[in-house]
Amino acid sequence: MIKLSKIKKSYGRQQVLHGIDLTVEKGDVVAILGPSGSGKTTLLRCINYLERPSDGEISIDGLVVQCNRPTKAGIYNLRKKTAMVFQQYNLFRHKTALENVMEGLLVVHKLPKEQARVRSVEQLKKVGLGDKLDAYPSQLSGGQQQRVGIARALALGPKVILFDEPTSSLDPELVGEVLSVIRKIAKEGITMIIVTHEMGFAQDVANDVVFMDNGTIVEQGKPGDIFRSPKEERTKQFLKRFA
Ligand code: ATP
Repeated sequence: MIKLSKIKKSYGRQQVLHGIDLTVEKGDVVAILGPSGSGKTTLLRCINYLERPSDGEISIDGLVVQCNRPTKAGIYNLRKKTAMVFQQYNLFRHKTALENVMEGLLVVHKLPKEQARVRSVEQLKKVGLGDKLDAYPSQLSGGQQQRVGIARALALGPKVILFDEPTSSLDPELVGEVLSVIRKIAKEGITMIIVTHEMGFAQDVANDVVFMDNGTIVEQGKPGDIFRSPKEERTKQFLKRFA
């Protein structure tokens, strides 16, 4: 359903993605692991054109974007098929939880207000925030704010949700509540790509694990294989740190 072919990205003279090939099937939960600076976040942001890849091809659900000559319509449609959950939540501070979730439905999807409201309430209930609809981000814990971010992504009904280190800004005691919401939606069969440093979570929730280093995919496989018997020396060294 998602096919990335030879995705490259450079910042000035620094090449950070060296031609990434990755296929994700419908309903897959893919965890991307790797050391700091290996290009995980950049790859994720290239998928929905928050970063513009220098070269390669992105195909999602029948839509193909050639990165060396993308069209405006191609980028717009790519963004409509994806939703991102950010490390820093990226909520509007002056909007309530409900208004934050409704925003994309009104502005991007042009849904009538009542329909947007109903859909947003439903998703906020799903992430356990049915009683916080009118709360502003400043009145919510980090974990609750991130759950609003997840509800916002879900409400858009994307083909894939891209999670960029969704728990790394959270105090340790708040990580569990966010991971359990992600686990719950994974079980519903939503396609997800998750950049994470939470090894236990990746092992548990992902059905495919990708290990990146230096802008390349070093190894990819089932979590049981990657965590128990990694083939590549770089993967072994990386995982040792978490043993
Ligand atoms: P981390 O686990 O620390 O978040 P990462 O694997 O997600 O790291 P990226 O954030 O994708 O790595 O960064 C890959 C490389 O690209 C790094 O060397 C980083 O400094 C560089 N980089 C990322 N964003 C930019 C930018 N906007 N401008 C210039 N260089 C950048």
